Amino acid sequence: MNAEIIAVGSELLTPFRTDTNSLYLTDQLNQLGVEVVFKSVVGDDLKRLVAAAQHSIFRSDIIIFSGGLGPTEDDLTREAVAEALGLSLRRNEEVLAAIERRFALHGWKMSTNNAKQADVIEGAIVLPNANGTAPGQWVSGKYENRECIVILLPGPPHELKALFESECRERLRAKLPPAFLATRILRIAMLGESHVDARVSPIYKRFCHVQTTILAGAGEIELHFRSSGETMEAAQACVDEAADAVEEELDDAVYSRDGQSLEQIVGYWLQMRGATLAVAESCTGGLVAERITSAAGSSRYFVGGAIVYSNALKTDLAGVPAGMIERHGAVSREVAAALAEGIRYRCESTLGIGITGVAGPAGGTDAKPVGLVFHALASDSGTEVIERHFPGDRKRIRRFASTLALDMVRKKLM
Ligand code: AMP
Ligand code: MG
Repeated sequence: MNAEIIAVGSELLTPFRTDTNSLYLTDQLNQLGVEVVFKSVVGDDLKRLVAAAQHSIFRSDIIIFSGGLGPTEDDLTREAVAEALGLSLRRNEEVLAAIERRFALHGWKMSTNNAKQADVIEGAIVLPNANGTAPGQWVSGKYENRECIVILLPGPPHELKALFESECRERLRAKLPPAFLATRILRIAMLGESHVDARVSPIYKRFCHVQTTILAGAGEIELHFRSSGETMEAAQACVDEAADAVEEELDDAVYSRDGQSLEQIVGYWLQMRGATLAVAESCTGGLVAERITSAAGSSRYFVGGAIVYSNALKTDLAGVPAGMIERHGAVSREVAAALAEGIRYRCESTLGIGITGVAGPAGGTDAKPVGLVFHALASDSGTEVIERHFPGDRKRIRRFASTLALDMVRKKLM
């Protein structure tokens, strides 16, 4: 069976609100082995909602509406679905009494508007909503000669989630063949998306039962593998086979195989080696420190460091000789190395990171263009410096630089 999600609400068509309910619902449906094949966002407009509902019953087996069940004039999902299915809408006295009780419980008087939340589509199962006034509704039958399940859920995310879990999940499971969904996520640092895809697509294409997707961010790529099976073991075995084959090809570029972030992995290796880290950051402005300390327990391996934006602080806090900055410029291989060595010495850490670069958008020259970053890692075996010219805007350049620096630490300790 496949599914379709229709998010209802004019606010979801503005720049200020995002439809997040469909992400949650997609995850839940996938876990039941159901693929989501259409998603749409429709404003609070009866004609458009009826049209969306009519389309959906021609093409999808399970249709979930989110939102538009409130008490106000613009909440029209019930009316639209009833019209599209050719069913009547009747006020349900039991539901009305439940809504009145809910108001009384809080010492409020129910406003007349709320009564319409008790309107139930002919033949629908009412799904009680413990967290709000609008109950959900479950309608199933043959429409346009196709068996469909149409589910109406309230828009507030906490209500929708609770209702899906308490009223929908097991009801749906009972209608579906047994299916278990297994997933694996491989995370890769500092390789380009097209490069990764060229290397691994011949491999994952061999596994036709495994769905593979690539998600790219600045300096990081995620490969998602999913497969469903009649048992969890069977599904997991499928996914593992594909993920293992891909991992073998990418070798140590894969930093995480169970969803852990790069900063968590770096923390893991620092602890494994009994090592500590300090940072002297210029163009990343503390981003490396922020990422490292976002992992719980980072005080065990992260000593601290300095944000050395000005040349004076590069000298005062990280001991970079002023003459060196004058000779080579603040953005240089030499200064990056001196930052890493200086901060390692001053903080008495096992490892020191130094980063200096041009994050832009201004400040670039022909010799030192925007995006040029020097990353240094100092240890007792010497100092390694990597020079890179990153594409993108200031935010991406800084993200790239922090990822590369973290990955240098990972590779050093592995
Ligand atoms: P409604 O059920 O349409 O009255 O929605 C009530 C509130 O739930 C809205 O004001 C939104 O803040 C929130 N909401 C509605 N639909 C969604 C959605 N698809 N994703 C996230 N939040 C939503
Ligand atoms: Mg709404």
